[in-house]
Amino acid sequence: MSDILDLGVKDIRDGVAKGDFTAREVADAFNTAVAAASELNAFIVTTPDHATAAADAVDARREKGEDLGKMGGVPIGMKDLFATKGVQTTAASHILEGFTPQYESTVSQNLWDAGAGMLGKLNLDQFAMGSSNETSYFGNVSSPWKKDGTNAAMSPGGSSGGSSSAVSARIAPAATGTDTGGSIRQPAAFTGICGIKPTYGRCSRWGVVAFASSLDQAGPMARSVEDCAIMLEAMAGFDPKDSTSLQMDVPAWEASLDADLKGKKIGIPREYRMDGTDEEILKSWEQGKEWLRDAGAEIVDISLPHTKYALPAYYIVAPAEASSNLARYDGVRYGLRDLPDGAGLQDMYAATRAAGFGDEVKRRILIGTYVLSAGFYDAYYTQAQKIRTLISQDFSAAFGECDAILAPTTPTASFPLGENQDDPLAMYLNDVFAVPASLAGLPAMSVPAMLNADGLPLGLQIVGKPFDEQGVLNAGLAIQQRAGFDAKPEKWW
Ligand code: GLN
Repeated sequence: MSDILDLGVKDIRDGVAKGDFTAREVADAFNTAVAAASELNAFIVTTPDHATAAADAVDARREKGEDLGKMGGVPIGMKDLFATKGVQTTAASHILEGFTPQYESTVSQNLWDAGAGMLGKLNLDQFAMGSSNETSYFGNVSSPWKKDGTNAAMSPGGSSGGSSSAVSARIAPAATGTDTGGSIRQPAAFTGICGIKPTYGRCSRWGVVAFASSLDQAGPMARSVEDCAIMLEAMAGFDPKDSTSLQMDVPAWEASLDADLKGKKIGIPREYRMDGTDEEILKSWEQGKEWLRDAGAEIVDISLPHTKYALPAYYIVAPAEASSNLARYDGVRYGLRDLPDGAGLQDMYAATRAAGFGDEVKRRILIGTYVLSAGFYDAYYTQAQKIRTLISQDFSAAFGECDAILAPTTPTASFPLGENQDDPLAMYLNDVFAVPASLAGLPAMSVPAMLNADGLPLGLQIVGKPFDEQGVLNAGLAIQQRAGFDAKPEKWW
């Protein structure tokens, strides 16, 4: 069944609808591939029964001539940040180990309603904090890719590293991701797949374990722009249960895909030429401009003057919100409880949180609590919020001159697991190109461009105007058609 494993969302949906194969055959093939790929450590738990039950339901609907749904017959991986009813949901943290939600997140429910099934819950950086998938309580995730001539395990990026690893290894045709400051785009770039973070508010945050609520957005990760368009349509939509949900109809992104960019202006932000950016990344950016020009777009220089303040502002705003959101893990309501003999309530809180949170999560809580504390609030948090506004204004001004922005997704290609672990600042730098769009709530996508000299994938990022996922997808499609990226990692797992 190795041919089935090469199929993406559209191929599977259309093939099932036409009767080329059954949804059950597809689910069986991916369930088998997932079970055989434990070396990647991409899944925290597998749910083969969920995938087969959903597939059988789709096959039964087909028998009756009923509509199969936008994702009919497509088995996917679910980042373990989405609450799934009756299936353990951990955010890759010990503190949530054993937590089995009584409810389903809106995004996952939307996917099941569209005919998708679940292969399992995907590993991630703990509470989605990280850029390498090394902060999970359930162990590192390996990328299926290797640097040419070496055997070291490489990072799949983070925090959606289980998602990127599984989709690039072809043990899942697609997966959900979440992006607070790059966690869909950076892992997509590291593994040669596509991923789109929609406009803030497009996908409901209800039932998604909260990291930084003003930034968190769900989105699809898949191997083509078309597959991302299809899956995003299924995931998105107004949800009264999320107060920041957009009250807008979901556009027909798939049907409106169009790689002809005639009349479109693509902006190149000059401040994204940063010291430390790898030469090959800069080359891929140049190549991206050529591709978009070839698709009919005009390339224009733009300025986003406050870019250099984006990362420091993000690392104040995101930990501040996280420290508040994570206060709910107290040993009373969810998962772990550490109750030393004779201990009181405060001791239980402290013991549970000390035992349950990983080091990176504790670091963020400490930073967040500090920047929100009475003496420092204005010096840090208020300043960071002001910078956030300036960054949004930079984008608004730039979008007076262009329709979308082209930039690299990351400053480097993937690195070996362990390499950046002792230096949190080096790790935070991974998101330098991703974070500005997050702070401004803009739709942004990573599309694979090429392999570097070491045989590792490089991604290009397109950032769009608010609500213009279509423009982002269309530019992504233009790149995809010209890049012809069809490299596959060699199977070693
Ligand atoms: N890597 C960034 C961080 O650690 C972004 C994470 C994310 O988008 N969830 O905060």
